[in-house]
Amino acid sequence: MSLGQVLASLTSAKPICYNREKGRDRMNWQNALPEIITHPNSRLRFKEPLAKHTYFGIGGEATAYIEVSTIAELSAVARFHRQWDVPIAIIGRGSNLLVSDTGFKGISIRLISELAKLEVDRRVVSVGAGLSLPRLSKTMSRRGLSGVEFALGIPGSIGGALIMNAGAWGSSFGDIVTDVTVMDDTGELVNLTHAEANFAYRHSGLDAYFCVTGATLELKPGDADAITEKMQAFYKQKVETQPFAEENAGCMFKNPPGDSAGRLIDISGLKGYRIGGAEVSTVHGNFILNIDNATATDVLDLVAHIQQQVREKTGISLQTEVKRLGFGPKVE
Ligand SMILES: Cc1cc2nc3c(=O)[nH]c(=O)nc-3n(C[C@H](O)[C@H](O)[C@H](O)COP(=O)(O)OP(=O)(O)OC[C@H]3O[C@@H](n4cnc5c(N)ncnc54)[C@H](O)[C@@H]3O)c2cc1C
Repeated sequence: MSLGQVLASLTSAKPICYNREKGRDRMNWQNALPEIITHPNSRLRFKEPLAKHTYFGIGGEATAYIEVSTIAELSAVARFHRQWDVPIAIIGRGSNLLVSDTGFKGISIRLISELAKLEVDRRVVSVGAGLSLPRLSKTMSRRGLSGVEFALGIPGSIGGALIMNAGAWGSSFGDIVTDVTVMDDTGELVNLTHAEANFAYRHSGLDAYFCVTGATLELKPGDADAITEKMQAFYKQKVETQPFAEENAGCMFKNPPGDSAGRLIDISGLKGYRIGGAEVSTVHGNFILNIDNATATDVLDLVAHIQQQVREKTGISLQTEVKRLGFGPKVE
């Protein structure tokens, strides 16, 4: 073999060796994962149907699904993610999530136990990201602490509420947050001030981190009965004006400045419009319902149709609020 032939064979061999190595790694991360999920409260499952973890009830399987119960284990998962280069998606209650029909090729994580704690010290409340928002709302009203009455009808977790800066009736979750704890992808905890969280309308800067682990809230002391009454009045109004019986992911689109996406969809004549098993709610135009085994494709086709019709009729481009999982390497 000439020197030229040797060099040519070396350059063509390199990518093959590299790919073979990568392929081997991709097979092995699934064998290695059980070694780091050892806490008795944690759960690890493979080929987990994500439809059952979303309010839409739509979506294929995640390669792996973990219910992580401690900070130490979450930190181990962050390091595992870096070591094996495996895509990770943190899911809260799945109430603002559309999962692809082909699922998610990676590890989806839900936070439980130690990561869903609730501690109250007078008006200062420490919450884990896995805690449910309605549970926080109810507990605070009983304790005579005001500030989260708006949240009883928002079926998310604290982590999802922080990422989305969830809100209703003129209040947003970020308003009551003094600081947020996040984990970076080396597994270290980082404390962020309210300003560093970059809260905006249905947005925060927190998705730049590996995971949100919790927050500190400052609430206002008040009369428990009056707080409970206000919380229940908000809830009643929500149930009367929004669809609650069918599977959905809350508002599909963000409200454009000074207007309401529901109104624009309504005047575009789209209420009740259906593609496959997905339908625009006749109760509130900004909700897409899974009325008959809808696929993620049905929902996205309907989203595209609504955007096109509203743009044609009103000149306004609607932006989606609902996050997507399984359409790329991370949640979009
Ligand atoms: C019936 C219904 C009514 C609703 N009403 C409202 C309303 O009034 N106002 C409102 O704002 N929203 C509403 N929503 C939408 C939804 O409840 C909120 O956006 C909620 O905050 C999402 O929380 P989640 O835990 O379900 O997040 P998910 O849907 O699970 O996830 C949403 C995003 O947050 C990320 N995420 C979740 N937890 C973490 C974490 N710990 N660390 C990092 N990333 C994380 C996910 O990766 C994803 O990007 C409604 C939804 C439904 C189904």
